[in-house]
Amino acid sequence: MRPGFTGSGLDRADHLRLDEARLAELASGLEARLLRLAGLDPELDEDGRLGWSGMAEIEEPIFLGFREGAPLFAPLVRVEPGQRAWSVFALLDRMAAEDAALWGTARSLIEWHNRHRFCGACGASTLLFRGGWGRRCGGCGLEHFPRVDPVVIMLAEHEGRVLLGRQPQYPAGRYSALAGFVEPGESIEEAVARELYEEAGIAASDVRYVASQPWPFPGQLMIACTATAAGDGIRLDTKELEDAIWVGRDGVRAALAGEPGAPFLGPPRFAIAHTLLRHWAS
Ligand SMILES: [Zn+2]
Repeated sequence: MRPGFTGSGLDRADHLRLDEARLAELASGLEARLLRLAGLDPELDEDGRLGWSGMAEIEEPIFLGFREGAPLFAPLVRVEPGQRAWSVFALLDRMAAEDAALWGTARSLIEWHNRHRFCGACGASTLLFRGGWGRRCGGCGLEHFPRVDPVVIMLAEHEGRVLLGRQPQYPAGRYSALAGFVEPGESIEEAVARELYEEAGIAASDVRYVASQPWPFPGQLMIACTATAAGDGIRLDTKELEDAIWVGRDGVRAALAGEPGAPFLGPPRFAIAHTLLRHWAS
């Protein structure tokens, strides 16, 4: 099963990003398409697919790449802090996988531009370059590139059961895999072991990579792993988690199937926790 937000089918055409004349030509051509957005959220057409319009007069189009021969662009929407809505989660469940992946790419880039309008080195304004895949400082000339922040997400396994946690803001009944940002100076394996120990007091080893997915809120790379727990005694960090439970394969299968008697409400299909649980329970 393919993780959510992957499979956009996009030819990113990196070799064109510095060719401003060619990008301008592509943007003014009849084939060019501009992603329709409401704030950062996608505007779907009547078939539930991503909405596109002809190119409008926008100042800073972001060149996403080509799909089926057509050059695709996204507008650089300005988003003020606190303006983000989360209603998009209801849309994502019914969006085509390739559309969610393409929109996620645009959303991550737009968020990054919004958060990097000023240079972190000298404080001067930065300007978009490389077709939207970078910003250059107008003061010191430093080049800034879109960030991707690695996050580990993992299932610790102990005698046929896996550890799931619940954060206070989750919907009622929802449990999911534990997760946390990889810190400077850490490998994926070390981050998995540290997070399991910090959040649940679980000593784990034998970390195995399963799959990855980009997560566009705002720009993480989720790295899904399994690990072997030395024991099943939980010592909860209540600042991170409200509860943690061990669940066997039958319980995980029931949750993924949405059965009413399941021991927990599973993570949504587009989250890699879903993919990870499905991989483990299969
Ligand atoms: Zn600077």
